Order: sequence, then structure tokens, then C-alpha cells
Amino acid sequence: MCFVGFFLGVAMLGCGNNSGRDSYAFDSGSGFSSDVPDMEDTATPDSVTTTTTFTPTLFDGSVTSVVVEVDYAAEAEPAVSGPLTDSTWDLFEANAARLFEGVATVSIPKTLADMERMDSVIPGPYSTGEVMAISEANRDHFPSEGVATFHFLYLDGYAEASDGSPDLNVVGFFIRGTSVVAIFKPMINNLALLEITRNFGEQTALIHEFGHAIGLVDITVPPTSNHHDSPNGAHCTNDACAMFHALEGPNDLVEFADKYATSGTNVLFDEDCLADVDALK
Ligand SMILES: [Zn+2]
Ligand SMILES: [Zn+2]
Repeated sequence: MCFVGFFLGVAMLGCGNNSGRDSYAFDSGSGFSSDVPDMEDTATPDSVTTTTTFTPTLFDGSVTSVVVEVDYAAEAEPAVSGPLTDSTWDLFEANAARLFEGVATVSIPKTLADMERMDSVIPGPYSTGEVMAISEANRDHFPSEGVATFHFLYLDGYAEASDGSPDLNVVGFFIRGTSVVAIFKPMINNLALLEITRNFGEQTALIHEFGHAIGLVDITVPPTSNHHDSPNGAHCTNDACAMFHALEGPNDLVEFADKYATSGTNVLFDEDCLADVDALK
């Protein structure tokens, strides 16, 4: 398999279904380590290094420990408890544990005490380059032998649309070629009146972006069945799966959360996405 394109390609996955950003040339471009010509934002720091680059060997047994680091801006605290659960992040944990079942343990902060507040963060809207700069300034955990790390940033602002305005269709995004995920908390706050729906939607957004970060669908995890929604990027055709494309936008996310928040559904990936991951083990 050829992963060269993945290492060199950088694109933003998070976007609404109308904005077209999902159709970016995912595997084109070059030179992530020193410059990022394919990223839309020229403010990308030159200091972006390969130390944060995700390796495509997550499931072959060479990684035995997966560490998720969560940093949040003041006023953008992740939901950690709420209706029906004392631990909102149990849902993310269940999904991450299922993905890595049999190959690696996952370590996930589930309380604010285990996450880190970022006291000085530039105001949004945020470009991918700005998100990378915030990650670089705050990241504490880096990959090492046998250990993969992911950096989740909760930001008190919106993603930046191509015209520089706040993008009200983007709940979160994963920056391809990295292990960095951003969640735009005001989007979550606006999602729904019901706390249970908001919290489930927030967790679903995290799970969706983490799915991209570990290589779904067809980023570094090749499809083993016909479920890759390639017209919509790295997504799954099943609207009941966390990797459905429209879950990056607020409307479908709320619909999904309304449907599954009280259903007892634990693992939000469908069988097809799980089979793709399991095939690499
Ligand atoms: Zn997506
Ligand atoms: Zn799926």
C-alpha cells in the first residue's frame, strides 16, 4: 500500500455538505514538514513538524497505547457530565476502545481535571493553520515507540470559512496529515436546547473526527466493502454511522443525537467501518 500521499497531503475535512471543502484534493500537495501549500491558509507556521504526524501503522500491533490529550479554551469547556450519565466521555471512550480492541489500550481524559485549560488563545474564526499553531503551543503528548497520540482542541470560536467569516456549518475538523482535531464549542452550544442532545452531539462530533484521525474512510484505512461515500470525501454511506458526511454539520448532528442519545447505542460506527479497521489488525 502506498501511504506517501497521506503523509504529504493536507486538507481540512470538517465542513458542511454545501461548502465543498470535503472535496479538497486529499492526497495532493507536498512538504508538510516545512510548508503547507495545499492548506488554504498561508499563516500556517513554518514550525509544523512531523512529530505530530500520524503514522498509518495504528492497527498492526506496533502501537499498543493510544493517548488522547484534550485542551480547551476558557469558556469552551468540554461537557463531562450530564443527563443519563456521570461521565459524558464514556461514549467517546467506548468508541475509541472498540476501534483499538485487540491491539491497543486507549487513555482518555474524562474529567476537566484531566484536561488542560488554555488561558491564552487567539480569537476565532480559526483557519487550519491557526489551529495547528494553537496545537503546537499547547501540546504535551507526542508519539513515541508503541504510543500514538492525538490532540483535541476545544475552541471558543468558529472555523474560518474561505472568505474569512465564521463558518456556521462546521462543528469540528480534523487536519489531515496530523493528529489534531478541533471542536468549535459555540457550534455545540447552539446545537440544541436539550443538554442530553448537545452532549451526545458533541461526543458524536468527536467520534466522527477521531474516525478521520485514525484513517476512516479510505484515508489510511481502506474500505473492505462498498460503503465509501467518495463523492463526499472520507465518509461512509450509512446515515446511521458516525462517519456519515452530514454529521459534520449541525442539522444532521442534532438529528443523529436525537435519534440515538437515549437509545442505549454505544458504538456509533457501523459494521462496515469497524470491519475496515479490524481488517488491518
Ligand atoms: Zn468527516
Ligand atoms: Zn460507516
